[in-house]
Formats: sequence, structure tokens, C-alpha cells
Amino acid sequence: IGANPNGDTIAAIATAVAAGAGSVAIVRLSGPQAEAIGRRLFVAPGSQAWESHRVLYGHVVDPADGRRVDEALLLLMRAPRSFTREDVVELHCHGGLVAVRQVLELVLAAGARLAGAGEFSQRAFLNGRLDLTRAEAIAEMVAARSRRAAELAMAGIDGGLQRRIGGLRERLLDQLAELEARVDFEEDLPPLDGALVRAELEAVRGELERLVAESRQGELLREGLRVAIVGRPNVGKSSLLNLLSRRERAIVTDLPGTTRDLLESDLVLDGVPLTLLDTAGIRPTDDRVELLGIERSRQALAGADAVLLLFDLLAGWTAADRELRALVPEGVPLLLVGNKLDALPPGAAPAGVPSAPPEAPLARISALTGAGRDDLVAALLGLCGAGEVQGLQVALNGRQRELAAAAATSLERALETAALGLPWDFWTIDLRAAIAGLGAITGEEVSEAVLERIFSRFCIGK
Ligand code: GDP
Ligand code: ZN
Repeated sequence: IGANPNGDTIAAIATAVAAGAGSVAIVRLSGPQAEAIGRRLFVAPGSQAWESHRVLYGHVVDPADGRRVDEALLLLMRAPRSFTREDVVELHCHGGLVAVRQVLELVLAAGARLAGAGEFSQRAFLNGRLDLTRAEAIAEMVAARSRRAAELAMAGIDGGLQRRIGGLRERLLDQLAELEARVDFEEDLPPLDGALVRAELEAVRGELERLVAESRQGELLREGLRVAIVGRPNVGKSSLLNLLSRRERAIVTDLPGTTRDLLESDLVLDGVPLTLLDTAGIRPTDDRVELLGIERSRQALAGADAVLLLFDLLAGWTAADRELRALVPEGVPLLLVGNKLDALPPGAAPAGVPSAPPEAPLARISALTGAGRDDLVAALLGLCGAGEVQGLQVALNGRQRELAAAAATSLERALETAALGLPWDFWTIDLRAAIAGLGAITGEEVSEAVLERIFSRFCIGK
């Protein structure tokens, strides 16, 4: 028996579709009418049985005129053994754009409603198939840009985060139960040791703060770092970008000022997805096009999570480099990169190069030969706090981090109350707030409005 027996049936194209691309496109239906609609539109030749979890071969046919719209496979998954725990029908059509859209139109004409973003996942959550952390991890899997990000999402789908948060919530519920029992029946129960309660609240608070601190790394894995490469014309920005991406993506020339537009390159370094922004040389100029490039460079610097400032070791740290340094916004991690190490005469100390302005670390490389590349990558990731992503097991997303941080603050307040020696029922106020916050992470305590907001960020058909 499926949940939502009187509810509507939703449908959507569940795969990415584009003309000339994708060998299979799937139209997915979920709800009480899914099977009836499937039987109306799908003709399976021979004596193929309409059984759950069995694939039928046949054609999607327009019931109005009997015209074959596409050759397809039909997969029926009856409730509750489906992703949504409702009756689900999947029509596996040929890829591309036109036929699959027609199939969807027929499905909608037959009585299904077009699904909103994330509505299948929302039903799966509401019907108890997934907790909220697992549902969000599925969306993160879809969005993953690197192998490590996908691994982290998979850990979430497996319930790693739900168990961590759910476990902490259980521990708080145990303490709440002890306290509440004392509020009501103090004289009938053995005395409660306040120090033990406080130690437990403190331990949970510490775990929450650790999770909050680690979430920064998870964010880097999910969203990637935006790194601006700036430097005077001809210091080797494009060459460095090529070296890091190991692709001939940027055009390298001997003419100063070739890189006029902002060039974005997506790559993965040590499991961390990065977007590198190669900028035009920032310098005073009368050239309109060049001016445009400078404006973009300023924008790149403004939006960057980190900056690589390249200078030429042969020329030394010049006044122009100093001016560029001054453009880097306060608080953005900066790595100075001395380039063209290969061209320095052996043993020669580069003339006029300060070891580095005191507040920024320095790497020396040759973008041409690749010398110093690994040290540069390690220094960059370390600078951004991305060095420790390898050991990460679970990671909170932004929503979860806010809730966990608020729960930790509530526990801190409960501990302050406890330290004042106030009666038990005073302790429970903030403890309850912490429990509610953790419940909002897993979805045990979450409002419909919040759910709508979360699932609306998913893609259609998920
Ligand atoms: P950009 O203007 O900062 O992007 O500089 P490019 O990457 O276009 O490089 C300008 C010139 O410097 C090209 O001729 C490169 O081959 C050369 N170059 C870049 N990196 C190095 C390096 O590490 N060593 C040497 N010897 N030449 C380099
Ligand atoms: Zn360039």
C-alpha cells in the first residue's frame, strides 16, 4: 500500500536531455495513477506480464491515433518498493529531445502533473524512504565536480551524516529525559548528578563544533575554490594555468597583454575542484580593450577565494608588482609565486627580489619546466584550509552548518545555566532548542516551508 493513496501522480523527464545527445532518456512517474497511465500509453507485444520490478519491452503509443511515438522499455515498481514508496513507472526512451518530450506530453495528457523540482525526493522523504541528510546528499551527488566530492556525497547517501547527527540528538534526548523526570518526580527517583549531565552536554557541544569546523573543507569540495592568477603581462600567468590544468587551454604568446579577457579553467587538484581565473595584466593603460581586461581583473580579485600573484624572478619584485599586491583585497589568502626559476643562472640570487613581503608566503616555480609545481599546489591548498580534505568522512552543507552551530550555542547556554546552579527545568529550555536544531538537520523536526525551500533547489525529475 503506497502512501499518498489519494494524491496526484507526478511525472518528469529524469535525465539530462539535449538534441543529439544522451542514448537513453527516462520519463518517470510516481503516484497512484502511475501504472494506469503506463498501461494506457505503453503497448507491450506478446505475453509480457505487468509485474513489479520487471522490464517490459514495447512502444509508447499516442492513444488518440495509435501512432508509435517511441520504442521504449517500461519499468514498473509498485509501492512500497520504489524510490518514493509510491507506485513508480519509468519509461526508458531513446535519447535526444523530441520523442521524450512527446512521451512526457502524453503522460501529462493522461492525467499526471508535471513534477516540481525535487518533488520525487520530497515524496521519498515524506514517505519515510530517506531522512533529510540522505536526500540532500543525493542532490550533492548530482552536483559533485570531483571524485572526493562524490565520495562525500555517497557517505551522506549511506547515512553517515544522519548517524552522526542522529546519534548526538539521541544523547541529548537521554539527558532531557533524565532532567524532565527530575522536574516531575524528583523525590521518587535516585538523585541526578548534575556534573555528569554537564559533561555529556559539553561532549556533544564539542562534537558539534568539530563538525562545524570541518564543514569548511566540505564546502571547498562541493563548491570548489575560485583562484585568481594575477601578475604583470608576460610573467607567465597563462603558462602556469597550462601547467596546472595540463591542457593547452590558455593561449601563450610572447606579446605582453595577450590575455585580455578573463579565462576560466575548471580543474581538480588533489581532489579539490578549482576554478582558475587568468586575468589580464593590471596596469594603467589607454587601450579600451585592455581597460576592459583590467576591470575584469578587479572583478576576479573581488570574487576570488585565493590569489596567486605571479612575478618574474629575473626582473625581481618591481614597483608594478607592489601595486598589484595592493589591489588584493584584505583577508583573501595570497600566495606570491616567483616564476621563471629555470632562467635564473645557477647559484645566482635573484637581483632585487625580496624573500617576500612579510605577510605573504612565497613559492618559486618554473611554469615552463614544471619545477616547483607540487609545492605550489600544496601551498595553495594549505593556504585555503583545503589541505585536510582527504581524511574527511562527513561534511555539513550550509543549511546544516547553521543549525549545528546554533545547537552548539544553545548547549553553551544550557551549560551556563547549569553553572549558575539553577533548577533542572531551567536547563531544559536551551537543551530542547538544541535537540530541535539537530532534528531540523535530519528532518525529524522541520517545517513544511523549510522543506519546500530545500527540495526546490533540486533538479526536476529528482
Ligand atoms: P602571461 O602574459 O602572464 O600570461 O605570460 P605567458 O604565460 O603568456 O608567458 C609569457 C612568456 O614567458 C612566454 O614566452 C612564456 O613561454 C614565457 N615563460 C612563462 N613561464 C616561463 C618560465 O617558467 N620560464 C621561462 N624561461 N619562460 C617562461
Ligand atoms: Zn596570459
